[in-house]
Amino acid sequence: MTSKSDNAKQKMDTGGDCRVGFGFDSHRFSHDRKLHLCGLEIPDHPGLAGHSDADCALHAVIDALLGALALPDIGELFPSTDPKWKGVPSRLLVQTVLGLVLQRFPDFELVNLDLTLITESPRIAPHKEAMIASLSELLGVPRERISVKGKTNEGMGWIGKKEGMAALCALSARI
Ligand code: MG
Repeated sequence: MTSKSDNAKQKMDTGGDCRVGFGFDSHRFSHDRKLHLCGLEIPDHPGLAGHSDADCALHAVIDALLGALALPDIGELFPSTDPKWKGVPSRLLVQTVLGLVLQRFPDFELVNLDLTLITESPRIAPHKEAMIASLSELLGVPRERISVKGKTNEGMGWIGKKEGMAALCALSARI
Protein backbone atom coordinates (compact mmCIF):
# COMPACT_ATOMS: atom_id res chain seq x y z
CA MET A 1 0.00 0.00 0.00
CA THR A 2 1.29 3.46 -0.89
CA SER A 3 1.34 5.94 1.98
CA LYS A 4 0.58 9.67 1.72
CA SER A 5 4.27 10.49 2.22
CA ASP A 6 5.25 7.99 -0.50
CA ASN A 7 2.86 9.77 -2.86
CA ALA A 8 4.37 13.15 -1.97
CA LYS A 9 7.88 11.76 -2.46
CA GLN A 10 6.92 10.22 -5.81
CA LYS A 11 5.48 13.56 -6.93
CA MET A 12 8.69 15.31 -5.92
CA ASP A 13 10.79 12.69 -7.72
CA THR A 14 8.79 12.90 -10.92
CA GLY A 15 8.20 16.64 -10.89
CA GLY A 16 4.95 18.55 -11.17
CA ASP A 17 5.38 20.65 -8.06
CA CYS A 18 5.44 24.44 -7.63
CA ARG A 19 8.52 26.36 -6.57
CA VAL A 20 9.09 29.89 -5.28
CA GLY A 21 12.46 31.61 -5.54
CA PHE A 22 13.92 34.82 -4.20
CA GLY A 23 17.04 36.65 -5.36
CA PHE A 24 18.91 39.76 -4.25
CA ASP A 25 21.86 41.58 -5.78
CA SER A 26 23.62 44.91 -5.42
CA HIS A 27 26.50 46.60 -7.23
CA ARG A 28 28.49 49.78 -6.82
CA PHE A 29 28.22 52.45 -9.55
CA SER A 30 31.30 52.88 -11.71
CA HIS A 31 31.71 55.96 -13.93
CA ASP A 32 33.79 54.17 -16.55
CA ARG A 33 31.22 51.43 -17.26
CA LYS A 34 27.96 51.27 -19.21
CA LEU A 35 24.77 50.59 -17.29
CA HIS A 36 22.99 47.32 -18.07
CA LEU A 37 19.67 46.47 -16.44
CA CYS A 38 17.32 43.61 -17.41
CA GLY A 39 19.53 42.91 -20.42
CA LEU A 40 19.21 46.47 -21.78
CA GLU A 41 21.81 49.19 -22.03
CA ILE A 42 20.54 52.28 -20.20
CA PRO A 43 22.13 55.34 -21.82
CA ASP A 44 23.61 58.43 -20.17
CA HIS A 45 24.16 56.94 -16.72
CA PRO A 46 27.20 55.49 -14.91
CA GLY A 47 27.36 51.72 -15.08
CA LEU A 48 27.91 49.15 -12.35
CA ALA A 49 31.20 47.62 -11.23
CA GLY A 50 31.45 43.85 -11.46
CA HIS A 51 33.08 40.86 -13.14
CA SER A 52 30.43 40.49 -15.87
CA ASP A 53 28.43 43.46 -17.21
CA ALA A 54 27.14 43.72 -13.59
CA ASP A 55 23.44 43.70 -14.57
CA CYS A 56 22.17 43.47 -11.00
CA ALA A 57 18.57 43.00 -12.16
CA LEU A 58 19.44 39.86 -14.14
CA HIS A 59 21.69 38.63 -11.32
CA ALA A 60 18.75 38.83 -8.90
CA VAL A 61 16.59 36.95 -11.44
CA ILE A 62 19.26 34.25 -11.81
CA ASP A 63 19.55 33.74 -8.06
CA ALA A 64 15.75 33.59 -7.73
CA LEU A 65 15.64 30.92 -10.45
CA LEU A 66 18.46 28.90 -8.94
CA GLY A 67 17.03 29.34 -5.44
CA ALA A 68 13.60 28.09 -6.52
CA LEU A 69 15.21 24.89 -7.73
CA ALA A 70 17.72 24.60 -4.85
CA LEU A 71 20.60 24.67 -7.34
CA PRO A 72 24.04 26.23 -6.70
CA ASP A 73 23.86 30.06 -6.63
CA ILE A 74 25.20 32.55 -9.17
CA GLY A 75 28.53 32.97 -7.35
CA GLU A 76 29.10 29.21 -7.42
CA LEU A 77 28.17 28.84 -11.10
CA PHE A 78 29.98 31.96 -12.37
CA PRO A 79 32.84 32.72 -9.94
CA SER A 80 34.39 36.17 -10.26
CA THR A 81 37.79 34.44 -10.29
CA ASP A 82 36.97 32.72 -13.62
CA PRO A 83 38.23 34.80 -16.59
CA LYS A 84 35.65 33.03 -18.80
CA TRP A 85 32.90 35.27 -17.38
CA LYS A 86 34.84 38.54 -17.41
CA GLY A 87 32.85 41.30 -19.10
CA VAL A 88 30.20 38.89 -20.47
CA PRO A 89 26.64 40.13 -20.96
CA SER A 90 24.46 38.82 -18.15
CA ARG A 91 21.95 37.77 -20.83
CA LEU A 92 24.43 35.00 -21.58
CA LEU A 93 24.49 33.98 -17.92
CA VAL A 94 20.67 33.78 -17.92
CA GLN A 95 20.72 31.64 -21.07
CA THR A 96 23.36 29.36 -19.54
CA VAL A 97 21.29 28.97 -16.36
CA LEU A 98 18.09 28.23 -18.32
CA GLY A 99 20.01 25.55 -20.23
CA LEU A 100 21.14 23.94 -16.97
CA VAL A 101 17.64 24.17 -15.50
CA LEU A 102 16.00 22.53 -18.53
CA GLN A 103 18.59 19.76 -18.51
CA ARG A 104 17.75 18.99 -14.89
CA PHE A 105 14.00 19.76 -15.04
CA PRO A 106 12.75 19.16 -18.63
CA ASP A 107 9.19 20.29 -17.74
CA PHE A 108 10.38 23.50 -16.09
CA GLU A 109 8.05 26.46 -16.63
CA LEU A 110 8.52 29.91 -15.21
CA VAL A 111 5.08 31.11 -14.08
CA ASN A 112 5.64 34.73 -13.04
CA LEU A 113 8.33 37.14 -12.00
CA ASP A 114 8.26 40.19 -9.72
CA LEU A 115 11.34 42.43 -9.80
CA THR A 116 12.06 45.53 -7.70
CA LEU A 117 14.97 47.85 -8.50
CA ILE A 118 16.06 50.16 -5.69
CA THR A 119 18.04 53.17 -6.84
CA GLU A 120 18.01 56.96 -6.66
CA SER A 121 18.89 57.05 -10.38
CA PRO A 122 18.25 56.33 -13.14
CA ARG A 123 14.47 56.55 -12.93
CA ILE A 124 13.11 53.11 -13.76
CA ALA A 125 9.63 54.17 -14.95
CA PRO A 126 10.74 55.38 -18.43
CA HIS A 127 12.46 52.01 -19.05
CA LYS A 128 9.87 49.78 -17.43
CA GLU A 129 8.07 48.55 -20.57
CA ALA A 130 11.35 47.88 -22.40
CA MET A 131 12.66 46.00 -19.35
CA ILE A 132 9.53 43.84 -19.20
CA ALA A 133 9.82 43.13 -22.94
CA SER A 134 13.49 42.20 -22.55
CA LEU A 135 12.80 39.85 -19.61
CA SER A 136 9.84 38.32 -21.46
CA GLU A 137 12.00 37.52 -24.49
CA LEU A 138 14.93 36.29 -22.45
CA LEU A 139 12.93 34.08 -20.07
CA GLY A 140 10.08 33.01 -22.35
CA VAL A 141 7.45 34.39 -19.96
CA PRO A 142 4.47 36.42 -21.26
CA ARG A 143 4.77 40.14 -20.49
CA GLU A 144 1.60 40.16 -18.42
CA ARG A 145 3.27 37.77 -15.96
CA ILE A 146 6.24 40.05 -15.35
CA SER A 147 6.31 43.01 -12.98
CA VAL A 148 9.16 45.54 -12.81
CA LYS A 149 9.04 48.23 -10.12
CA GLY A 150 11.43 51.06 -9.38
CA LYS A 151 11.87 52.55 -5.93
CA THR A 152 14.24 55.08 -4.42
CA ASN A 153 15.68 54.59 -0.94
CA GLU A 154 14.38 58.03 0.13
CA GLY A 155 17.96 59.34 0.24
CA MET A 156 18.96 56.92 3.01
CA GLY A 157 22.20 54.94 3.27
CA TRP A 158 24.51 53.88 0.43
CA ILE A 159 21.71 53.72 -2.11
CA GLY A 160 20.57 57.18 -1.02
CA LYS A 161 24.12 58.48 -1.50
CA LYS A 162 24.07 57.04 -5.04
CA GLU A 163 26.98 54.73 -4.31
CA GLY A 164 25.18 51.82 -5.97
CA MET A 165 21.86 50.11 -6.53
CA ALA A 166 20.07 46.91 -5.55
CA ALA A 167 17.62 44.47 -7.12
CA LEU A 168 15.18 42.04 -5.54
CA CYS A 169 13.37 39.31 -7.46
CA ALA A 170 10.65 36.87 -6.50
CA LEU A 171 9.37 34.28 -8.94
CA SER A 172 7.36 31.11 -9.13
CA ALA A 173 7.91 28.10 -11.32
CA ARG A 174 6.51 24.65 -12.09
CA ILE A 175 8.78 21.67 -12.54
MG1 MG B 1 25.85 40.65 -9.21
